Amino acid sequence: MIVDRLARPLGSLRVSVTDRCNLRCRYCMPEQEYVWLPKQSILTFEEITRLVRVFASLGVDKVRLTGGEPLLRHDLPALTRMVSRIPGIRDLAMTTNGLLLSKQAAALRQAGLGRITVSLDTLRPERMRELARTDRHADVLAGIDATRAAGFRGLKLNSVVIRGVNDDELVDLVEFGRKHEAEVRFIEYMDVGGATGWSAAQVVSQREILEMLTRHYGPISAIAAGTAPAERFQLPDGTTFGIIASTTAPFCRSCDRSRLTADGSWLLCLYAERGIDLREPLRSGASDAELTQLITATWQGRSDRGAEQRLGLAERSPLYQVEGLRADPHREMHTRGG
Ligand code: SAM
Repeated sequence: MIVDRLARPLGSLRVSVTDRCNLRCRYCMPEQEYVWLPKQSILTFEEITRLVRVFASLGVDKVRLTGGEPLLRHDLPALTRMVSRIPGIRDLAMTTNGLLLSKQAAALRQAGLGRITVSLDTLRPERMRELARTDRHADVLAGIDATRAAGFRGLKLNSVVIRGVNDDELVDLVEFGRKHEAEVRFIEYMDVGGATGWSAAQVVSQREILEMLTRHYGPISAIAAGTAPAERFQLPDGTTFGIIASTTAPFCRSCDRSRLTADGSWLLCLYAERGIDLREPLRSGASDAELTQLITATWQGRSDRGAEQRLGLAERSPLYQVEGLRADPHREMHTRGG
């Protein structure tokens, strides 16, 4: 196991398998046009697997497939199977918007995917049309049903809460989760790259979320913290939910995650200005030992605390304007993987 300068281990790796997405959520991809990663730069399944194997040898035991929309990557079950067979990976998960899930859930399960998180910000189709520019709300619900039929348990639902947009649906989402044996995780709206319309006024804080739910359900108790980014809570009847308070109560001090973009850029922090290029050494013949050495030295020098630094700013505004994102698409949340 290796640790960084703040004694944080290299524990979890989020692998973005594509920068493409079939939604245009206003908090992530609000623009009309995007600069995409060049096709030839996208890592093959063999390249991704080789890198994950090196990461696993250094202590990574949790891998999450993400994007962009991971299910847009052709034959994702094949990659899933390859990654699931890597010694040391004990938790293989995926975050998806669910649009294509109903067709693929069974194959992903068979390929060794352990857990699924589906993003679901609203239960109202007309609201999703405004929020994500799609008419396919029913496909997301069908995808959620398919996970259970395929044998997945412990489904999580991610809901980004935005003031004046969906903050009147907290109770409905908790109830939906309860009905579908899924745990809802409310995510504070983050000022990440891509969120060009972000403003502090639209952030519904963890404190406010708890207040709203307490008003409806009565006293809520905190569940002892694990290593997950979400703080977990329990309603009086035992129903659990989580809150990811990256904006108002960041958890940088315990952050063990890093991100690999679809073109092999390795990011030590969601807010990092740039990543470390692993594709170049990979494609120019670096040995596993050389890759191990590069990753080890880089992690041991890590001291990033991006979300805490953002919190410390006197005036907070979007991380990048659209020109900055066009100049380098690696700054986009959909490239980095959420
Ligand atoms: N396409 C997949 C999906 O929709 O889940 C995976 C990628 S998406 C970037 C991963 C997660 O990031 C989603 O749950 C999404 O809601 C979250 N996300 C994107 N932009 C965000 C923002 N500005 N603030 C908080 N969460 C955000």
